[in-house]
Amino acid sequence: MTLEIAELGNPILSQHAAKVRVFAGAELAATTQQMMLMMTELNGVGIAAPQLSISQQIVIIASRPNQRYPDAPLMEPLVMVNPEILDQSSETKKGWEGCLSVPGIRGYVARSIGVEVGYMDIEGHSHQLVLDEFPARIFLHEYDHLIGLTFLDRVDSTADLASEKELAARLA
Ligand SMILES: [Zn+2]
Repeated sequence: MTLEIAELGNPILSQHAAKVRVFAGAELAATTQQMMLMMTELNGVGIAAPQLSISQQIVIIASRPNQRYPDAPLMEPLVMVNPEILDQSSETKKGWEGCLSVPGIRGYVARSIGVEVGYMDIEGHSHQLVLDEFPARIFLHEYDHLIGLTFLDRVDSTADLASEKELAARLA
């Protein structure tokens, strides 16, 4: 089985993903393993199941420091099943985002600087977590994939879009 990233225009990216109903099984383990492999291989800081054409409510977030977010915390990849936003700060901050499903394009997106999240682990245990700054941004970006949105739906205007090449030149 060759895994491919679903890219912009693929209808699966505009669908609402289905809730996971069966926990602690081989299928969920296999799906999250595939997501982890793909995220690592493509050097991403997060991934959502619909990006692998699996329309289920599963995301992985894996913050680490990078050129755009040098102060980002280094975290072990966190698998979140059926995640929910319990609360989010009204205060937002704009930051550049990229997406494995939107190759070559970056967007300057306003996101809440803090978010309280509920989710299940792959065993079906529920958890709550508060995320701030870059991890909050990653989560909100990945969560959007579960409700059929990409960062392109979140920019205030097309003036907040740039190619990777142009952005690299601008930030250099
Ligand atoms: Zn994305």
